[in-house]
Amino acid sequence: MAKKACIETFGCQMNVHDSERMAGLVEQAGYELTDDVGDADLVVINTCSVREKAEEKLFGRLGALGRGDGERPLVAVTGCVAQQEGGRILERSANVDVVVGTQALRRLPLLVDRADETGESQIDVNPYDDVSFPLGMAVRNDPVKAYVTIIEGCNDFCAFCVVPYTRGHERMRPADEILAEVRHAAAAGHREVHLLGQIVNHYHDSADPRRDFAWLLHEVHEVPGVERIRFASPHPRHVTPAMIAAMRDLPKVCNHLHLPLQSGSSAVLKKMRRRYSRETYLALVEQVRTAIPDIALSTDIIVGFPGETDGDFEDTLSLVEAVGFHGMFSFMYSQRPNTLAAKKMPDTVPDAEKTGRLMTLQARQKAIQTRLHARSIGQTVPVLVDSRSRRQADGEMFSGRTAQNTVVNFPGKPEWLGSTVAVRIDAAGAHSLRGEVVALEV
Ligand code: SF4
Repeated sequence: MAKKACIETFGCQMNVHDSERMAGLVEQAGYELTDDVGDADLVVINTCSVREKAEEKLFGRLGALGRGDGERPLVAVTGCVAQQEGGRILERSANVDVVVGTQALRRLPLLVDRADETGESQIDVNPYDDVSFPLGMAVRNDPVKAYVTIIEGCNDFCAFCVVPYTRGHERMRPADEILAEVRHAAAAGHREVHLLGQIVNHYHDSADPRRDFAWLLHEVHEVPGVERIRFASPHPRHVTPAMIAAMRDLPKVCNHLHLPLQSGSSAVLKKMRRRYSRETYLALVEQVRTAIPDIALSTDIIVGFPGETDGDFEDTLSLVEAVGFHGMFSFMYSQRPNTLAAKKMPDTVPDAEKTGRLMTLQARQKAIQTRLHARSIGQTVPVLVDSRSRRQADGEMFSGRTAQNTVVNFPGKPEWLGSTVAVRIDAAGAHSLRGEVVALEV
C-alpha cells in the first residue's frame, strides 16, 4: 500500500504554489496525497511568518500531530518559519524530522527519505540561486487558476518586512521556463494564469533584460487557452508606462491592479523605506486611471507603524477616500524578526491605539466597497466561474470573479465551472455581488 502524505499550507499565494510543487515532488517519490492528516505517513507543514506569533502557532500545531493508531507520522516543516528558525525548530520539538528552507524545496523528498532511513533529523536552510522547477511537476488542484512563479525573493528590504530574510535575494526565473509552464497549465485546462513574485513587476529575464514584465504579459497573452491573466504583487515604484500600456491593450490582462500602499503618510512611507511618497502614489493612480478608466484598485495597509501619529493615520484615511479602493488587506503593525524596524524602531503605538485605527480604517473601507459595488447593480458582467459555494432554496450556488476581481455569487450548474458566463447583478454587499446568469457564452 502506498504511503500517504498530507500538506498543510499557511500564508500567501506563493506558499500555496510552493505546496503545489511539494505535492508533485512527494507524489513522484511514491506518496499518495491525502487531506486527512490522521491518515498520513508524512505531514508537511508549509509555514508563513508574515503575521505575529507564527512560531507559536507552529509549535502548537506540532504538538497536536498524531495518528489514530498512536504512531507519529514523519513531519517536515517548510516555508518561511523553517527558513527563519532553522535548527531551533529541531531543538524545540521532538516531533519534527525534517526542516526545509524556502530555497531548498526541491530537496524535500531526499531529506524525508534520509530521515526515514536513518531515524535522524535532517535540515537544509541553505540559499540556492537556481529557481528552475521541473515542468509539469506541480499538482494543481484548482481547476481554473494556475499559479506560475516568475521571481523568487526580494531585494527591497522594506523596514517592516521579513520576506528578504525568509525568501532570500531576488532571483528571476528564465522567461522560456515561465512560458513553457504557462503553456502546460493552459493545455491542462487552466483558464486563469496568476504570475507570482514578491515584486512581480520587477521581472526581467536575467539572460535578456529587454524581456521585462510588460514583455512577459504580451507573451502570456499569446498562449492559446489562457483566458485571463492576473499577477501579484506589484510594487508601485516598478509600475512602468509599458506595463500600464500592456494592461490597457491586452484584453486577457484583468482590469485589476493590486497596488500596496502601506501608509498614506509620506513621513511613515519614508521610515518604511517604500521609496514613494503620498504624492507620487496618487500621481501613479491618476496615470493608471487615465489609461484604464474602469480599472479596480486594491491595496495593503499597515496601521500603527513605529512613530505613526494621529495625523499620519488621518493621511492614510484621506488617501483611502481619495483613491476609492475596491479591496484592501489591512493589518496592525507587529515586529518581525531581523527587520530594520525590529532592530531600530521602538514599537511606539500602543496596542489599543492600533486596534482603534484598524477598526476605523476597516469601517471606512467597508463603506467605500459598499458604495462601489452598488454601482454594479443592473449591469451584466462576465464572470469566470471558479467554485461551488452552497446549496440554497433557489438552487446550488456558484461563485466566480469579475475581471475587476469582485466575487459574484449566483445560482448555477456544475458544468459551468471553468467557463465565463454573463451575470446580471441584482444585489451588492461590501464583499461580494449577487446575480443571475443571463448568457452562457461571453
Ligand atoms: S517589496 Fe518590501 S514589502 Fe514587498 S516583499 Fe520586498 S521587502 Fe517585503
